[in-house]
Amino acid sequence: MTFEALGLHASVLKALTESGYTTPTSVQAQAVPAAIAGRDLLVSSQTGSGKTAAFMLPALHKFALEGDLPQTEAGRTANQEAQSARSRGERPRFKAAQPKMLVLTPTRELALQVTTATDKYGSFMRRVKAVSILGGMPYPKQMQLLAKNPEILVATPGRLIDHMESGKIDFSQLEILVLDEADRMLDMGFIDDIEKIVAATPATRQTMLFSATLDGVVGNMAKRITKDPLVIQIAGSTNKHENIQQRVHFVDDLSHKNRLLDHILRDETMDQAVVFTATKRDADTIADRLNIAGFAAAALHGDMHQGARNRTLDGMRRGQVRVLVATDVAARGIDVPAITHVVNYDLPKFPEDYVHRIGRTGRAGRNGLAISLVNHAEGMNVKRIERFTKQLIPVDVIEGFEPKRTASAARPSHKPGGWKPGDNRGAPSKPGQRTFSKPGAAPRKEGSSFSKGPRTGDTGARRSFSDR
Ligand code: ADP
Ligand code: MG
Repeated sequence: MTFEALGLHASVLKALTESGYTTPTSVQAQAVPAAIAGRDLLVSSQTGSGKTAAFMLPALHKFALEGDLPQTEAGRTANQEAQSARSRGERPRFKAAQPKMLVLTPTRELALQVTTATDKYGSFMRRVKAVSILGGMPYPKQMQLLAKNPEILVATPGRLIDHMESGKIDFSQLEILVLDEADRMLDMGFIDDIEKIVAATPATRQTMLFSATLDGVVGNMAKRITKDPLVIQIAGSTNKHENIQQRVHFVDDLSHKNRLLDHILRDETMDQAVVFTATKRDADTIADRLNIAGFAAAALHGDMHQGARNRTLDGMRRGQVRVLVATDVAARGIDVPAITHVVNYDLPKFPEDYVHRIGRTGRAGRNGLAISLVNHAEGMNVKRIERFTKQLIPVDVIEGFEPKRTASAARPSHKPGGWKPGDNRGAPSKPGQRTFSKPGAAPRKEGSSFSKGPRTGDTGARRSFSDR
């Protein structure tokens, strides 16, 4: 299967060659022809499977075809009008932006990534402009972007609503609506905003929805906003992450956990890592501590200004930051191919977040390692994750870092440096290999960490969702 065979416009194909893409991923192979044919899509496939291109390539193809036609459209000349008004010394009338495509994403980082990918895939097209409209961006800057009347708008729902309601954006010309990571947007409470935005778009639009799951609330919304959609579910891939090795390490206390973290990050196979914490405060504290210990670490969380977040992510992409210490929401959708390790310093509060977290490694078919540092009292939380992913996570012990409590239950199988990215032979464990859930091994006696008071333990569940 080639991109040519999918029927994409020559300018899009050129950009793909330039980007080093040779073969479509399976989600792209299924989504692109259907989207070109104008169908609505409901897609679930695992993170890193190339969903951005799955919706952006057919859209760019469409705009490229329109660009091949003689330019008759008045809408695109708004900017020139404004310019000539200015040259006549008149104050230009503000004209609402009339995008042809809208991509909604749950977070700013994700929106910026989609915009960057769009610039890449559209780099050989004569005129196609994509801009992101995000919370935290200065208002004049946003007005400046909207004044360019971009074809493609990438936005988080909240900020978009503000502009819609103040008449800065007119969706009457909208042709394509994309909801990226729709399940996350609903989890984050954006449902009313999304409904409002959808209601402002023409019924004739093409709608493409991407989500980890198409059940439940997402499925209901999907049914309401799409017409005769083609449903693409990449078989069993949602939670499998077969190219990502997963491990649990039991820890006795915070100092044990910190020593283990340092050890993991010193692994010679580590290229870049993301360390997940339960709270923003912990992200800062741990990033500071790691920096003092000589790691090039940086924190990423929702309390940081957008500029600082962008600088951190740029540093990550350029390899200047090797360890990113992040909270769930901030790290959603981060796509840095050199991330070899994901460390759950705290377990996530929701099993779904576990899947999103480990998906930060093993991008574009590479191999990755996902390590969870788990308190003895958190065995139940590991089980919940295993039930959700339908996979058992092997318990591992590193020589010199054996936990006192479960030393007998875990098998010391891991030799430091034994695994390399690109080495998939030490494959994820099979059911039955596991040892940690042996009767009597789970130290439930001291009670679930959920019931402990704040900051006494180091569990992943002591704060509310809004604190993340
Ligand atoms: P998803 O949204 O499914 O998590 P992304 O769209 O972020 O995945 O893509 C993941 C990574 O794979 C990105 O780095 C992207 O550039 C790369 N990628 C996407 N499609 C291809 C392809 N056909 N060939 C090679 N790399 C690809
Ligand atoms: Mg994506």
